[in-house]
Order: sequence, then C-alpha cells, then structure tokens
Amino acid sequence: MWWTSKHEDLIEITADGCDKIVYNKQSIIDSIKKLKQISSIDRLFYAMKANYNPSILNLIYENGVGFECVSPGEVRHLIKSIPNIDLNRIIFTPNFAPKTDYIFAIENNLNLTIDNLFPFEEWPNLFIDRDVSIRVDPGIGAGHHEHVVTGGNFSKFGIPVNDIVKVSEYSKKYNINIKGLHSHNGSGIKDISSWTNTANILLEIANKFPSIKTINLGGGIPIKEKLSEDDFDFNKFQDSLNKIKNDFLEYELWLEPGRYIVGESGVILSHVTQTKKKENYFYIGLGVGMNLLIRPPLYDAYHEIINLTKYKEKNEIIASIVGPICESGDKLGKDRYLPHTNEGDVMLIANAGAYVRSMSSNYNLRDMPKELLF
Ligand code: PLP
Repeated sequence: MWWTSKHEDLIEITADGCDKIVYNKQSIIDSIKKLKQISSIDRLFYAMKANYNPSILNLIYENGVGFECVSPGEVRHLIKSIPNIDLNRIIFTPNFAPKTDYIFAIENNLNLTIDNLFPFEEWPNLFIDRDVSIRVDPGIGAGHHEHVVTGGNFSKFGIPVNDIVKVSEYSKKYNINIKGLHSHNGSGIKDISSWTNTANILLEIANKFPSIKTINLGGGIPIKEKLSEDDFDFNKFQDSLNKIKNDFLEYELWLEPGRYIVGESGVILSHVTQTKKKENYFYIGLGVGMNLLIRPPLYDAYHEIINLTKYKEKNEIIASIVGPICESGDKLGKDRYLPHTNEGDVMLIANAGAYVRSMSSNYNLRDMPKELLF
C-alpha cells in the first residue's frame, strides 16, 4: 500500500488541523496500467459508483478508460466533470429503474444494458430497431459480503439463464438487436473461477445470438484488505481471462471494475477527538464516523487503521475506533492493537478510495472532510 512510505507527507497534509481524504494519483494510474496489461481485454469501463470525485474521473478518462454508470445523475455528473467526454465511452446499467431512465439512455444514445424482462414486456416500443445489451444472472454470485453478491435467485440483479429464451423471442418480435452480454457477480471476489464459469455461461448464450459483439464480465476484482494478507493473484486472473478469450475470439471482452482502480488510492486522515476507557477496553474517537465510512457497519468490512502521529511507537492497547455519530454501530474498527493515543493524533484509515465518499451520508449533519489528490 502506497501510504506505508509516506507517513511524513501525510502528517504534513493535516497540519491545518482539518480531516482529509487523500487520493494518490499514481496508485490509480498503476491500477489502470495493470488492467491494461491484460491483452484479452478490449475495453475497460470504470464503475463510477465507487468514487465520482471529478478530478479522479478526469484522471481515469485521460488514462483511456470509459465509464459504467447506473443512473442519469451519474451520467450528468460525468458530463459536467468531463465536458468533452465521448458518450461512446459510457455504458449505462440501470437496475429496477423507472421507464424515464431508459428513455434518457435512448435519447443520449448510451450503450444500454437491460437486466430484467420487464422493460421488454412492458415497454417494448422503446427498444424497436435499437441495440441493447442484457445482464445475465449466471445463477451464482460471489463477493466479500452477502450484501454485495449480485448473482443467484436471492439477488435482484440480472436475467436468469432460463429466461434468456424469452429475450430471444422479444428480440425477434420487436426487432431488438441484442449486441452485448453482461454479468457482474459481486464485489471483492477472490475466487477466479467466478469469472471463468460466468464466461462459459455467457459464451453458450452468445452462440445462440448471432448479433452478440461484446461480452462484459463486470467488476469485482479485489484489493488487499489487510497489510498481512497475500496479494490477489493478479497474474492468475490475467492468464484465466486470456485463456477465456481464446474461446471467443469473435467477441470483444470488456471489464468494468470500480474498487480495483480506486480502492487502494484513498486514505482518510482524521484527528482524534477524545479517548475513553471502560475497565480495560479503550475507545478512540475520530472526527469522522459512519457518515463517511459506512462499510464496516454495513458489511463488517475491514480497513487498516494506524496512528500516523505515533507510527514509530509500540502498540500497547486494544481499542475500538469510533466516530462522532449517534449510533452504537458507529465503529470503524474493532479490537485494534494500537499505541497509546491522544487527542489531536492523526489516524489513517486505508483503502478509502472506493465506496467511501460515494456512500457517505448527511446523517447527523456533520461536515465532510475535503478531498485532495496527491
Ligand atoms: N458493475 C456493476 C454492474 C456493479 O454493480 C459494480 C459494483 O457494484 C461494479 C461493476 C464494480 O464492482 P467493483 O467495484 O467490485 O469492481
């Protein structure tokens, strides 16, 4: 993780006493470079729900990546952030969205993915003589927590494989050109077979649709959560995708990662507000809480937390790191081994580049820290 060699620089950034979210540009560029090394990937789209900071969107665009959007709001924000953006670099993947979202996509000529039979059944006139992609539910999902698993009957996403025959009927009846297949199985997937199994399912479907040009295997590539953990085997992932591509040379292979591109780039730097001891149990309070970082309460997600001010000191206490939000669940880290910590110390929370600021809320009406690129 890039910040392990930048303690002094980061402490300096917080010298004004304000909490910050700092993103490392090089980390984003390096992640994109790695993805681009996968020779079988024809196009990359960044799932902008992970982080829609305008400077980050521009950096990603300049590095040749397109965008996966899920709402008209995201598309409008993207166009505002990158005024001359080529709309051909946007794919639009709404889920249980109102009819107006599909009209919006058509009016703006966006590359639209449909993930339910309902729009074909109820609003077929919208799609007559048009190109669309479909999102397939391969029947099984994966991911770091049940809330992020997006395959199988208990997930609301995608069209089940057994219903694809109905898509074929609608496409013939209304002359809808099914030009792409899409599948996204979840987030933080460590098992590479999730992509290979899905690819095989999509390949079988593609063989039945002569109009198919693209196969999109979604996102879900994990990043390392703990410093002590092994890296995700990126080479194996790359080899697997390259092998898959041999089976469908006639199709373009697409990926749309979010976390892998920006997750590691961000760190939260927050000052200690107060400390507390209940018998032998310590609490360390920060200026930010679940209003900014909802992932630990929502997913039981682990983020490394270190005391930057005292990074050379010995760990001596076991503490929960909490925020100022009026909820018992406002815990950003539990049972962490840390040095004795004081008011004003700067704490660093790692892997805050993805699904942190973009999932933050106004709960308790506390100000958000400023974001900056470093
Ligand atoms: N594609 C779709 C359709 C998604 O819903 C998501 C995340 O929720 C992504 C891609 C990106 O996932 P990740 O950030 O895990 O790569």
